[in-house]
Amino acid sequence: MIEIKINSQWAAFIKGHIYYRAKDVQKFKQDFPKLNECASKDLFLTDQTEWFLSTTFLQKIQVKPIDEYNIVTIELNDVYYKRAEYNTLEQKFNPPISEWIKYCFCKKLYNPREHYIQCNQCNLWVHYSCSDRSDKEFKIISELKFICFQCVEENKNNKLNLSDNENKDGQPNKLNTNIQVNKKK
Ligand SMILES: [Zn+2]
Ligand SMILES: [Zn+2]
Repeated sequence: MIEIKINSQWAAFIKGHIYYRAKDVQKFKQDFPKLNECASKDLFLTDQTEWFLSTTFLQKIQVKPIDEYNIVTIELNDVYYKRAEYNTLEQKFNPPISEWIKYCFCKKLYNPREHYIQCNQCNLWVHYSCSDRSDKEFKIISELKFICFQCVEENKNNKLNLSDNENKDGQPNKLNTNIQVNKKK
């Protein structure tokens, strides 16, 4: 809200900044494929302002910064999140899409409604659905060590290199072999 004015008929008008939802950006401006991954609660603060008649407001909402995105508040009706700012003239986001919070190998936008599992080795958060495990296995694995397939591959390569060295200098293989394998097909 920026300003309030009352006209000669005693009607109150409120001037405010306009927020777009992802589908508003796509409807009026060019298409950004990444916007398809936005949730309905993601908002973009635009450079546009407008006067509204006070009686046209439906409800009051809270707009939180995107780094406060979490599964508890996303369920509340009046809480929304500012994913970025959007300049409608230049059709540019600030911060740019390349800097938005993304997780997993698939680099999808972070969404607290999705289930994630963290790699014990590189700390990357991986979508449970991208981790190559079924729902039944998830309950068991949550108490065990999870190593993403990238780290599994890396460890394999290191092990190969160490084996090569072992032949040359006779040193034992120092790699920890207690690894939970989660190789992606
Ligand atoms: Zn990893
Ligand atoms: Zn993923």
